[in-house]
Amino acid sequence: MSPEPTAEMRELEDARTRVEELRAEIRYHDHRYHVLQQPEIGDTQYDLMFRELVDLEERFPDLVSPDSPTQRVSGEATVEFTGVQHREPMLSLGNVFNAEELAAWHTRAVRRGERDDLGFVCEPKIDGLAISLIYEDGRFVQGATRGDGFRGEDITVNLRTLRSIPLVLNAPAGTLPRAFEVRGEVYMSKAEFARLNEERRVAGEQLYMNPRNTAAGSLRQLDPRVTASRRLDLFIYQLGWVEGNRPVDSHSGAMAWLAGLGLPTNPLTESFATIDEVARFCETWVERRDALDYGIDGVVIKVDDFATQRVLGIVGREPRWAIAWKFPAEQAVTRLRHIEVSVGRTGVLTPFAALEPVFVGGANVSLATLHNADHIRSLDIRGGDDVIVQRAGDVIPQVVAPVLSRREGREAELVPFEMPATCPVCGADVSHGDDEAAYYCSNRRCPAQLSRGVEHYASRGALDIEGFGEKLAFQMVDLEFIQSLSDIYALPDRREELLAIPRIGAKKLEALFANIEGSKQQPLSRLLVGLTIRHVGTETARALARHFGNMTALQDAALEELQAVNDIGPIVAESVFAFFRDEENAALIERLRDHGVRIDEDTTARGGPLEGLSIVVTGSLERWSRNEVEELITTLGGKVSGAVSKKTSFVVAGEGGGSKRDKAETLGVEILDEAGFLDRLREHGWSAEIAESRT
Ligand SMILES: [Zn+2]
Repeated sequence: MSPEPTAEMRELEDARTRVEELRAEIRYHDHRYHVLQQPEIGDTQYDLMFRELVDLEERFPDLVSPDSPTQRVSGEATVEFTGVQHREPMLSLGNVFNAEELAAWHTRAVRRGERDDLGFVCEPKIDGLAISLIYEDGRFVQGATRGDGFRGEDITVNLRTLRSIPLVLNAPAGTLPRAFEVRGEVYMSKAEFARLNEERRVAGEQLYMNPRNTAAGSLRQLDPRVTASRRLDLFIYQLGWVEGNRPVDSHSGAMAWLAGLGLPTNPLTESFATIDEVARFCETWVERRDALDYGIDGVVIKVDDFATQRVLGIVGREPRWAIAWKFPAEQAVTRLRHIEVSVGRTGVLTPFAALEPVFVGGANVSLATLHNADHIRSLDIRGGDDVIVQRAGDVIPQVVAPVLSRREGREAELVPFEMPATCPVCGADVSHGDDEAAYYCSNRRCPAQLSRGVEHYASRGALDIEGFGEKLAFQMVDLEFIQSLSDIYALPDRREELLAIPRIGAKKLEALFANIEGSKQQPLSRLLVGLTIRHVGTETARALARHFGNMTALQDAALEELQAVNDIGPIVAESVFAFFRDEENAALIERLRDHGVRIDEDTTARGGPLEGLSIVVTGSLERWSRNEVEELITTLGGKVSGAVSKKTSFVVAGEGGGSKRDKAETLGVEILDEAGFLDRLREHGWSAEIAESRT
């Protein structure tokens, strides 16, 4: 006879039940949100369930399993990926470009298949990366890149971070084949691509070229946390090998079956009975493609019936039963008139191409990016070259390469590129550090830098002054109304002079003045973004604002103190430190202060369970990122400090975190591990309600 279960055992059993309940709920809502895009609950509710699960798994580590939703980002950064042999090769597709070529493909298929009633399935061809996913006993066990079709790379840990990939399939036990493979295309949406690039733009970093390359780079990150921070998406387009019998006998049947298991399939997929209908479907997509939130470069057409697919077989590395209708190329060749250079708000000189206008990717293009001097040099792009221009969706047009064969006989007309020695706008010397690719205009009063700086200051991620765009910024600098950022706040005093400028009406001006006034109330982090401090983007600005609370504290911070702020690296700390040591910058901040810009109000929360406590966080925590735990502490009224002193209330020490822990020990400051910190939060009245009220 088994003895009575102990209290601990009962507690464990209760926890197990609850954990399973929560996982099922979370899986369900992940599917609603990420696959069906029809969420039923808000983020806060979701977060609460998620936190509860994390909490339970922490208290009962035995209950953690690799398929738990909490384990999506798991595993450490690796040095390299291991190779994976595909059990069945991942084939490529033949191409057709128009209805005639499609009809010819159809005729061959009819002849070989010995039947003329072929049914077809058509789906948009996603411009992404092909991947293979293997499920065993309903659980996701391995994901790999396509590689050369025969051998790819094992990127399981990265693919686990995609929330549209179910870690457990939605099927009763015993109803699935023991193991099977599905294939899909991972992509980055246009919106996510724009978000990432906006972040980089704000931080003054080089922009990504296009969503496809960015998605590829994100998937092959050695650190899965980086992949997780990019929101990648996926469509499954095919059932691969199956151990045992296939549960379905057609492609459309397979897609319906996979969708039922919770895998993301493209809802735009359609079936047709005749090849003429297929051609019409493809033609409509040439027009409709721009309306999608992801890039497509064609339509894939498949013979639906598996038996017929087998009869048609494979030729070379292409199946005869499928074909891609490719859209017209989004590349075109045109003459590069000359290479020009623009000056950014940090003074960086950026070359760009002035082109003979050309129609490409659905738009007329006369300007294109050349990225930087190294890019031009490595491709040997010259003024006067005929160049290949590429444009995809909303992406900035870019020069891909010169057409070398067209140089013959024109060599004398071509002008090799050299970065100018003086600024093309103000004529000041151009400086160039040996250690970086960038060239800078050395004049900090350069009107080009200032006008870009004003535009940035007023932009949405910064002080958000609506109506203050590129044109007005340029005009105000050009007419010398603005000679420093703080002059923006002096504009309302110059109403009469401004009204004398053509095309600036009284009504527009009033609205602008109101927006300028309103911007004074923006939080400190926005102002820090707006000041154009090198290497300081939105995230860094938030971390600084959270840590120091007000401008004076930040201005007075010693270099060591800045370096101690979580999430801030040494280069950024030095840049911030240098910025505030600079006299002109100090004067600018003083003027902003005089104009009533809200910079000295302590933005950390008052009241709350941690009020009056000074807390140091060190090492890495499991439950929260550094940013999250700091935000939590400040929201609960506590102060996050970067350095341990006698005034420190306690230190939260995660994995790692050596020197601060030592210092705390020396000073006799209390040290809590993560679980202890959680207990302390609860003691101080932290509860789900508080967590909810802060969002
Ligand atoms: Zn200049």
